[in-house]
Amino acid sequence: MKKLKLVMIGNGMAGVRTLEELLKLSDELYDITVFGAEPHANYNRILLSPVLAGEQTFEDIVLNDLNWYQGHGIKLLLNRKVVQIDRIKRRVIAEDGTEAEYDRLLIATGSTPFILPIPGNTLHGVIGYRDIADTRLMIDTARTHRHAVVIGGGLLGLEAANGLMLRGMHVTVVHNGEWLLERQLDNVSGRMLQTALEARGLHFRLREQTRALHDAGNGRVGSVEFSNGDLIPADLVVMAAGIRPATELAEKSGLPCHRGILVNDTMQTYDPRVYAIGECASHRGTAYGLVAPLFEQAKVCANHLARLGFATYKGSVTATKLKVTGIDLFSAGDFMGGEGTETITLSDPISGIYKKLVIKDDVLVGACLYGDTVDGGEYFQQIRENLDIAAIRDRLMFGRLQPNDDMQHHLREAS
Ligand SMILES: Cc1cc2nc3c(=O)[nH]c(=O)nc-3n(C[C@H](O)[C@H](O)[C@H](O)COP(=O)(O)OP(=O)(O)OC[C@H]3O[C@@H](n4cnc5c(N)ncnc54)[C@H](O)[C@@H]3O)c2cc1C
Repeated sequence: MKKLKLVMIGNGMAGVRTLEELLKLSDELYDITVFGAEPHANYNRILLSPVLAGEQTFEDIVLNDLNWYQGHGIKLLLNRKVVQIDRIKRRVIAEDGTEAEYDRLLIATGSTPFILPIPGNTLHGVIGYRDIADTRLMIDTARTHRHAVVIGGGLLGLEAANGLMLRGMHVTVVHNGEWLLERQLDNVSGRMLQTALEARGLHFRLREQTRALHDAGNGRVGSVEFSNGDLIPADLVVMAAGIRPATELAEKSGLPCHRGILVNDTMQTYDPRVYAIGECASHRGTAYGLVAPLFEQAKVCANHLARLGFATYKGSVTATKLKVTGIDLFSAGDFMGGEGTETITLSDPISGIYKKLVIKDDVLVGACLYGDTVDGGEYFQQIRENLDIAAIRDRLMFGRLQPNDDMQHHLREAS
């Protein structure tokens, strides 16, 4: 049987995972061609933060080396950014003119960092934090310059700040919110985190808007100006103020997009020959920015590419962690709570532990843990599975220790 042609745009985590899943189901259906804008084989983007912090090397975080592609007969075109999808002729065209025809197309272009539209944002030394090139640039800058400013106090911003500090820079995190990690923590745990990070040497400017970035006089950024007129020195500015799904290419080809390329429950776009997966895809109104949901999507997409056609993706509940060694936090679901919810809270400021569980109609709907996260996985499972917790409600805060005997033991230990 003549093989079909599968072309994938974007050689990142979600796309390559889809290929892995597909190859498990069928390695004879397709001739596969992959276009990657980066000059590298697939690596674990999540682990860029440990690379920045000096805890791992790039070689440690490669997921699929060149031999993997070769071994599976995949044609890998690196450093080749696709600039056009011709859906009539069913082919894609890269910046350098390389073309490839497809029977099925998989768009897995990920996201791009949101760069604040402020004066000075194109100066040398102003970057986003997305790939190994950004990471290397930060490492190099830390060797030669002193002051770094990270805009954004979310997961990415804090991991960038921590890494730059460990590389010897004086780092200030600028955040326009009331507390850090507002999407992962409530105000109590957010402030505990800030205290812990300040003790390590990070500096914070909260409730602050950045008005402009100023030239040091040589085309490189030299300072950051806030809306109240304050100036602080900055040789490097890392924008970590959010990401935008990379949909430009799909939009140009006429595929419907709204905060992501619109896909159905099989990850298929409005063109039945074209699938989209990962951070670039919008499923039921959500474009996910974490890998766990993307890997679930990958399984479903592969199932359809392999012509099995029975899997469906219904959306995901997500959980997050911060990858700063020595700081444990976990949150999942509706951890803020609201109307119709009840919360159980445990707070021990002396040992730096805070736990909040949010319950609605006898179901755990959210959890926020700081300082002790061992039970995070357990809570996450309960949230995902909508388990009725009425019978274990009084013991819920003690996580894994469900049987009464263990509970007695735990209470004895605690007293
Ligand atoms: C520093 C950092 C830390 C993170 N930490 C976590 C974490 O702890 N937990 C977590 O769950 N998630 C984390 N994430 C997010 C996670 O990495 C992403 O959710 C995941 O990588 C998304 O996969 P993707 O395949 O959609 O996009 P990507 O992995 O970004 O892959 C997209 C690829 O497509 C390429 N591309 C784009 N346009 C084109 C084009 N036109 N032609 C060819 N190629 C193109 C891009 O260059 C890129 O290589 C982190 C991200 C970063 C940057």
